[in-house]
Amino acid sequence: MSFQNPVFIPGPTNIPESLRKACDMPTIDHRSPLFGSILHPARDGVRQVLKSKTAQIFIFPSTGTGGWETALTNTLSAGDGILAARNGMFSHRWIDMCNRHGLDVQVIETPWGQGIPAARYAEALAADTDHKIKAVLATHNETATGVKSDIAAVRRALDEAGHPALLFVDGVSSIGSMDFRFDDWGVDVAVTGSQKGFMLPAGLAIVGFSDKAMAATATAGLPRTFFDVHDMDKGYANNAYPYTPAVGLMNGLNQACQMLLAEGLDNVFARHHRIAEGVRAAVSAWGLELCAASPDVYSDTVSAIRTPDGFNATDIVTHAATTYGVAFGVGLGEVAGKVFRIGHLGSLTDVMTLSGLATAEMCMADLGLDIRLGSGVAAAQEYYRAHPAQARKSAA
Ligand SMILES: *Cc1c(COP(=O)(O)O)cnc(C)c1O
Repeated sequence: MSFQNPVFIPGPTNIPESLRKACDMPTIDHRSPLFGSILHPARDGVRQVLKSKTAQIFIFPSTGTGGWETALTNTLSAGDGILAARNGMFSHRWIDMCNRHGLDVQVIETPWGQGIPAARYAEALAADTDHKIKAVLATHNETATGVKSDIAAVRRALDEAGHPALLFVDGVSSIGSMDFRFDDWGVDVAVTGSQKGFMLPAGLAIVGFSDKAMAATATAGLPRTFFDVHDMDKGYANNAYPYTPAVGLMNGLNQACQMLLAEGLDNVFARHHRIAEGVRAAVSAWGLELCAASPDVYSDTVSAIRTPDGFNATDIVTHAATTYGVAFGVGLGEVAGKVFRIGHLGSLTDVMTLSGLATAEMCMADLGLDIRLGSGVAAAQEYYRAHPAQARKSAA
């Protein structure tokens, strides 16, 4: 592997130099106003990135998976009903976590490559007249398949059924890269981590709680210690944590939020869309297909690309690593060996993306796939030339 090449895995993502420097800091007293001067702006920045005015933000030394656990254990009791769609490895793992916590999950099996079927959520919610379902799970962006889901439609399903269940959204691979609207969508708990859209090393679980989710903590019976939001809240009031925080990462998070907000969230989303469209142009020039079933579910942060039957897609990933020192993502679970993934989120430019596409072409050609060198790169180049980035537009 090379330390020079960018990575094209869908997290952890490439770390901008300024954020690496922000994470590298001397020890400070983590129970001091100085720590507060990192903690409070970081929470405020995250709240803005979530497009929320009122969400309570909690930041744990953990990862996205710890964020899932924070959502469940603070708001639910054993035996509570959960409604969830399984359409990829990440939604599958969250469902598995619910089962391990003794929750009663109603799973809507969904073909991998499709988004959350909001109409089937609506049916399940309408049928649940005694409100056994306490929380609805939605994976905004299924990183395993490169599929985004319509969270506003899930909200509508809840509202139209007049159902009081909480709405928990996994935004680990969308928040900070794709449009996310905590307030508009009536999200009750949003979950993310530091190593994807926030362009930092792994090590933080970042969650937002609505007032309704905070109220649910009063009756939630599941055991929780490390992830207890009230312990966290009490600490925050004194510029502290119930344990030792990851200070350098939080300093990085504060800077990352400032970077995203300075670029402008809508510009960040437009940049991701543009880069993703170039990748999709390349895939189509290669004559390959995405795992994502239709354009309305195409993810702007990761593309899962199907390879021809009988070919092991994982070979591309192994070959890229050993021969060219470049990282792509393997297929997970049901699509293992059938797809390889190009992550295109976080700190990424056209030029970086073109290098990844060029590498993928070399790998596929080396492994005997019928790919003409330069074909995908040229398609992406044409797209990027025809759709100049913000910087070039304003320079002109
Ligand atoms: C990466 C990811 C996770 C898991 O996050 P970790 O930080 O690895 O625990 C969960 N959900 C989605 C959608 C992800 O992309």
